[in-house]
Amino acid sequence: MKIICIGRNYSEHARELNNAVPESPVVFLKPATALLQRGRDFYLPDFSNDIHYEAELVIKISKNGKYVQEKFATNYIGDITVGIDFTARDLQQQQKENGLPWEIAKAFDNSAVVGEFMASEGKDIQNLQFQLEKNHQLVQQGFTGDMLFSVRTIIAYVSQYFSLQKGDLIFTGTPAGVGRVEKGDVLRGSLEGKTLFELSIK
Ligand code: ZN
Repeated sequence: MKIICIGRNYSEHARELNNAVPESPVVFLKPATALLQRGRDFYLPDFSNDIHYEAELVIKISKNGKYVQEKFATNYIGDITVGIDFTARDLQQQQKENGLPWEIAKAFDNSAVVGEFMASEGKDIQNLQFQLEKNHQLVQQGFTGDMLFSVRTIIAYVSQYFSLQKGDLIFTGTPAGVGRVEKGDVLRGSLEGKTLFELSIK
């Protein structure tokens, strides 16, 4: 199982980090070891002083595929949830300044949080609302219709490079409002008004 992530997929978020709006999807991977086991807390790692949350719609791939055409991409969308792409923003900034890959800032252990999955059948994947609350305050409000690259476009694009396997996860990018977490914070993610995860920062 692999985790495919899309960066800068909402223009307001690209702007808040002073990044250009991309012309094609920005893609990076996290290994299976990045997945935080369900129900576990998140422990701040020693190598960063600036861990940020990024709430994202997460898609589970429902079958194997390669070179998936966009018009068939819906067939590869399995269950969906909301998750967090935890990011060591200080390391990421250093890597970006030096033109180096982001993996140490993005793909570290437990950096991928996923909520309880729900069926995608009957849902318009580009018409979903998701939210992240930090300590009961709304910090991110996402609307999937604002994605620069739709889920179908993402599936078609990434499957040119990486074979999709059943069970792979795609993190589809974060809307504006990213921020730092501190020890003791509680994060709660919801999709279409349903709470799908709650976790504590330790
Ligand atoms: Zn992200």
